[in-house]
Amino acid sequence: MDLTEFNIVKTLELLEKRKFSSEELVKESLNYIKSLDPKIKAFLYVNEELALTLAKQADEKRKKREGGKLLGIPISIKDNICIKGLPTTCASKILQNFIAPYSAEVCERLSREGAIFIGKTNMDEFAMGSSTENSGFFPTHNPWDLERVPGGSSGGSAAAVASRMGLGSLGSDTGGSIRQPAAFCGVVGMKPTYGLVSRFGLVAFASSLDQIGPIATTVEDTAYLLQIIAGYDPKDSTSAPIEIPDYVKFIKENEKTSYKIGLPKEYFESEIDLEITKILMELIEKLKKRHKIIEISLPHTEYAVATYYIIAPAEASSNLARYDGVKYGFRAEAKNLIEMYKKTRAYGFGKEVKRRIMLGTYALSAGYYDAFYLKASKVRTLILQDFLNAFKEIDLILTPVTPTPPFKIGEKIFDPLQMYLSDIFTIPVNLAGVPGISVPVGLTSNNLPVGIQVIGPHFKDELVLSLAYQIEKELDLKLIPPIVNKS
Ligand code: GLN
Repeated sequence: MDLTEFNIVKTLELLEKRKFSSEELVKESLNYIKSLDPKIKAFLYVNEELALTLAKQADEKRKKREGGKLLGIPISIKDNICIKGLPTTCASKILQNFIAPYSAEVCERLSREGAIFIGKTNMDEFAMGSSTENSGFFPTHNPWDLERVPGGSSGGSAAAVASRMGLGSLGSDTGGSIRQPAAFCGVVGMKPTYGLVSRFGLVAFASSLDQIGPIATTVEDTAYLLQIIAGYDPKDSTSAPIEIPDYVKFIKENEKTSYKIGLPKEYFESEIDLEITKILMELIEKLKKRHKIIEISLPHTEYAVATYYIIAPAEASSNLARYDGVKYGFRAEAKNLIEMYKKTRAYGFGKEVKRRIMLGTYALSAGYYDAFYLKASKVRTLILQDFLNAFKEIDLILTPVTPTPPFKIGEKIFDPLQMYLSDIFTIPVNLAGVPGISVPVGLTSNNLPVGIQVIGPHFKDELVLSLAYQIEKELDLKLIPPIVNKS
């Protein structure tokens, strides 16, 4: 079975027609993992036995005509999203032996539709990073070039989907962690509007920015997965009680709709790799046939990274206070309680996590709160205002996803500032809470994937998907990393 031929929607049709069984499909996905993952290292945990049992059950259900929108489809889940009974480590030593006592709402919804969780994917520890090198266990490699990073923090999910180890994945995005790895691995990744998808059961990093979203090989699959996970959940107080449109129907009905699109000059004027600029500009020329494209300004863009690196660490320092060796996971041996706290956190957390906790604690400390956190919150409002103003004139915004193609493993790990700057185009979207998607648009001369970002107004996720779908149709690419065909 050649899994590069399949996506979720098409596979469901084939399962329905009995071209193959879910058991065969899941077995083949596990074979892909066995042959590719020793090199890519996208998975922290592979759920082999349970996945096969569930696949057999899915086949039984299908025989009895019991439905489910994802019946028998193998999906991977980032390791900061809980699945009851399975490990949830957040790629941190501090949660090394933690087994989730309940499932995230998104996993409940996927399960209810018959999805099969094949494994938990690697990530930057507690989702802090842009390369998956901050995993407490091992880095993940980009399937397009094993010497390069897959992006992060959902690098394991993006690398798994790109190399067809499972048909889709869920990641989380606080400042770009779904879109940036999706761009680096040549797959589609979406951060929905803040409040569209329940965060219940997602291990919190920066609660006012975190969103769970889908990663898949096509825009239609992305829309299909979003349909299942989106919608009000009383267990998450920031979940929005709104009607969810039919995303797949919307993108199909609007295949030819023309939109008014803004190109923010601040994004295109900043330092971007020349090949990326060329690929994006060629696409934008093509889009001009159908769409009205104008230059716009988002004047506070230059403050976004600095603002994010106050707000996100501040929230993280508070959220991560709970890992003290008492309630969860790892506990160090010590003579007394204080020493136990110190040793547990000193051993359990990696360098980047400690850096964030220190930054955040400092920014929130008495006397500094007004100068840092309060000021950052005000700038955040200005950044939000930029988007609200822009969307008075236009429907959607197009930007690069990343300033560079995937970089080499080790290239930025000792220079946190350079690493932080790789999210320069994705961070404003989280600060404003608007939806954004990364769609593959081509390969550089080194055969490295490039993505474009579509950004839309709050709760207009269907518009974002619609333009992404049009772009995908216009380009008609089929991006398969060479390593997949060789094995
Ligand atoms: N790379 C950013 C950070 O390190 C964003 C991470 C994320 O979206 N989870 O914080």
